[in-house]
Amino acid sequence: MTTITNTQKIIQETEKYGANNYHPLSVVLVKGEGVWVWDADGRKYMDMLAAYSALNQGHRHPAIIRAMEEQANKITLTSRAFNNDRMGSFLKRLCEIAGFKKALPMNTGAEAVETAIKAARKWGYMVKKVQKDKAEIIVLENNFHGRTTTIVGFSTEEQYKRGFGPFTPGFKVIPFGDADALEKAITPNTVGFLMEPIQGEGGVLIPDEGYIRKTYDICKKHNVLFMADEIQTGFGRTGKMFCCDHENVKPDILIVGKALGGGVYPVSAILASDEIMRVFTPGDHGSTFGGNPLGMAIAEAALNVLTDEKLPERADELGRYFVDKLGEINSPYVKEVRGKGLMIGVEIKKESGTARPYCESLMKLGILAKETHHQVIRFAPPLVITKDEIDWALDRIREVLTESK
Ligand SMILES: *Cc1c(COP(=O)(O)O)cnc(C)c1O
Repeated sequence: MTTITNTQKIIQETEKYGANNYHPLSVVLVKGEGVWVWDADGRKYMDMLAAYSALNQGHRHPAIIRAMEEQANKITLTSRAFNNDRMGSFLKRLCEIAGFKKALPMNTGAEAVETAIKAARKWGYMVKKVQKDKAEIIVLENNFHGRTTTIVGFSTEEQYKRGFGPFTPGFKVIPFGDADALEKAITPNTVGFLMEPIQGEGGVLIPDEGYIRKTYDICKKHNVLFMADEIQTGFGRTGKMFCCDHENVKPDILIVGKALGGGVYPVSAILASDEIMRVFTPGDHGSTFGGNPLGMAIAEAALNVLTDEKLPERADELGRYFVDKLGEINSPYVKEVRGKGLMIGVEIKKESGTARPYCESLMKLGILAKETHHQVIRFAPPLVITKDEIDWALDRIREVLTESK
């Protein structure tokens, strides 16, 4: 008789009742703390994905869990039909940290992107005076902004779109990293330029230095809103509070999510000037759970952890160390190591196969990482990771990247 492990049992149940829209590594996680997680059969792993950067503060950060418990004992949901006592204080903190006048809270990242698109379009009609239904938004090749039908409609990843049309018109795709292409694509109807300062899902693609500044300046010249999707790059991940800070750019609309919820609860938002945010009037836009007091209490605590523990500075210092050490590994399989802060990609040569089997080997050695875009292993641990923990990981990564196959 073959014995079936807890892991297999749980995976079977999950697959039996779940839709088949993911292909996870065959591990079942039952507990997490800081950078560490444990599986259903008692094995321990380091989490090098950090839920696509939603866990910058680490698993179950005590200050965030405390804020959640305290708020859960008071009130959790009011809807926006009534005010609650947590939203204002959260928005103030978020605006202070990001240097904006106004913020609008939603839940998931895709909803925040949709909110930004709506804001830009309405700004285009009301302020820029674009003719009705003519507004255009320019986006980048290889973009990832979420999974709603509008958003996948301007994806360049065939699989994200196949079978889901027809799509929302009004989007124009240009190559990533080419500022001149932006200037050429702008027309009098262009209301916004939507970009990721580093393309995470696209394979940790980092544009040349100066690209963010150049495209921002082009947007200013043509009265186009510069909209940065920092859902993944924001909140310290790249070694600054926001990735656009590396080039001293303050977007017209900043889109945030993921780590805003401290790895506990989905909270997203857009930030903008008064002039832009003013386009929304009662009834224009909303969300039942957006701005709920439980989420707001958690998100405020999550923001405080970032500043109290100087997580952006930590990501900068440890990220440089991690990238340097990865670069020193003499691997026959690696094409390139690239990264900013603790957002790191190791690209595997095409002739050495895809990144997936390397992730599976890492898992056997106690490291959970996920391939992105077939050829890239992403290393993006919680920002609370220590240098010793990085050294622990490096020993294992070195083993996987140098072992003969
Ligand atoms: C994850 C992500 C999104 C979508 O966020 P969801 O919370 O999954 O809807 C959008 N943009 C970027 C850059 C992301 O990394």
